[in-house]
Amino acid sequence: MEPNDRCAEPTNLTLTDAQVRIQKTIAPITGIEEIPLKQAKGRVLATTITAPIDLPPFANSAMDGYAFCHADLARQASATLTIAGTSFAGRPYPGKLGSGECVRIFTGAAMPNGADTVVMQEDVTRLSDGIRLEKAILPLANVRPAGDEIRRGECLLERGKILDPADLGLLASAGFPQAMVTRKLRVAFFSTGDELQPVGETLAFGQIYDSNRYLIHGLLDHPSIKIIDLGVITDDAAAIKKTLLEASDQADAIITSGGVSVGDADFITSCLAELGKVEFWKVAVKPGKPFAFGKIGPAWFFGLPGNPVAVMVTFQQLVRPALLEMIGSQTKPPLRLMAVCRSPLKKSPGRMEFQRGIFEADAEGNFAVTGIDRQGSHQLSGMSQANCFIVLPIENSRIKPGEMVEIEPFVSASF
Ligand code: AMP
Ligand code: MG
Repeated sequence: MEPNDRCAEPTNLTLTDAQVRIQKTIAPITGIEEIPLKQAKGRVLATTITAPIDLPPFANSAMDGYAFCHADLARQASATLTIAGTSFAGRPYPGKLGSGECVRIFTGAAMPNGADTVVMQEDVTRLSDGIRLEKAILPLANVRPAGDEIRRGECLLERGKILDPADLGLLASAGFPQAMVTRKLRVAFFSTGDELQPVGETLAFGQIYDSNRYLIHGLLDHPSIKIIDLGVITDDAAAIKKTLLEASDQADAIITSGGVSVGDADFITSCLAELGKVEFWKVAVKPGKPFAFGKIGPAWFFGLPGNPVAVMVTFQQLVRPALLEMIGSQTKPPLRLMAVCRSPLKKSPGRMEFQRGIFEADAEGNFAVTGIDRQGSHQLSGMSQANCFIVLPIENSRIKPGEMVEIEPFVSASF
C-alpha cells in the first residue's frame, strides 16, 4: 500500500489552510490553578482581572518640590508661600493647608489636604521660612491623580495574557499575592529513527546523534509547559504504537520527529491512522513538507519531519500557535517585516519557503537581509547563524538582489 493511500485525509495543504484547520480543530484545555505571583512568569492568566483599588490609590507628587493650592497662590500679592510641614512617601502631611501655605513634598508622597499643584524644587527660591515661585505654573502640575492609571473596577489584565514581569508588577500594585492561571500543558515528545544515538554514546558507522530531542526540548522549554521526554524509538511500528499510546495517556499534545515521510521505514502516519485520526498530512512548505496532524485518544498529535531545520519551521509555524491556543493564550501571528534582499535566492515552485537569513537595519532604519549559505534542511548551523526566516510565498520564483522580501525575525529561541 502506498503511504498516500493510507489515509483519505487532505494532503498538500497550504500553510495557511493547515494553520486554520489546526486552529479550528483544537480547543483550549480546561483546568486552572492559583499560584504565588513569583512563580507566575510565563503562565497564562485564567480570568480577566479588574482593579480592586484605584491606581495610584491616592493623589501624589510626581516630583520633589512644594505642594500648594493653585487658586490660593493666585490670591497672594507676591508668589511667596510659607512652608507648613513635609509630606514624605509613606509619611503624609497630617494637616490641612491654610491660605498662603505650601508643604515640602517628595516623589510618591500623598498630596496634602487642600493642595492641588506641585512646583519642582528647581523652580523656586528658598526663603528663610518659605519659597518664592520663579516661573508661572499651570494648575494641577506635577500631580498624579488617584486612579489616573487605572480606576477601581476597570480591567487590569485580560484573560489569556501570558504573564511577563510587567504583569507581575501590575498585579502586585493592585494587591494580588497570587494569580489564577491555566494549568500547565503536558507535551510528550520522542524521536524516531534507527540511526539515532543518544548524546554521550559512541557513534557506529551510519549513526548520527539525536539532535532533535535537544532542539524540541529547547523549543518547548516554557513555564506553561510540562515536558514529557519519551526518548528515541526505533523505526518499528509496534514500538512506535506502544509509545504513542503511552504518550496519549499522559499528555495533552504529542510531538514526534522523523518517520513521517514516504520511505519504507516511515511508520508515523500509518500508526496514527491505526490508533487515532489523521486530520491532514503534508503541507506545501519547504522545509517541512511531510508534517502530519491528528489525534490519538484525548491528545493532539503533531508529526514533525526528521530534518532539524524542518523541525524548527514546522514547530514555529504550526505547533507553536496550536500550543498557545491550547493554553488559552491570545495567539499573535509572528511579526513580519519587509526587507531589501541583498543576495540572490533560489526558490523551487509549488511550496512556500522559509529560507534562513541575517537581517540588519541601515543608517536610515531600512531593513536589508542576506540569505545564509547553508540552506539545507539538515544544516542546523545555518539556523543557528540566522536571525530571521526569509518568507517566500508559493508563487514566488527566484529572487534577484535588490528585490523586496518578507522576513520573520526570530524573536525568541523558545516557545
Ligand atoms: P526522516 O524524516 O525520518 O526520513 O528523517 C529525515 C532526516 O532527518 C534523516 O537524514 C534523518 O537521519 C534525520 N533525522 C531524523 N531524526 C533525527 C533526529 N532526532 N536528530 C537528527 N536528525 C534526525
Ligand atoms: Mg527516519
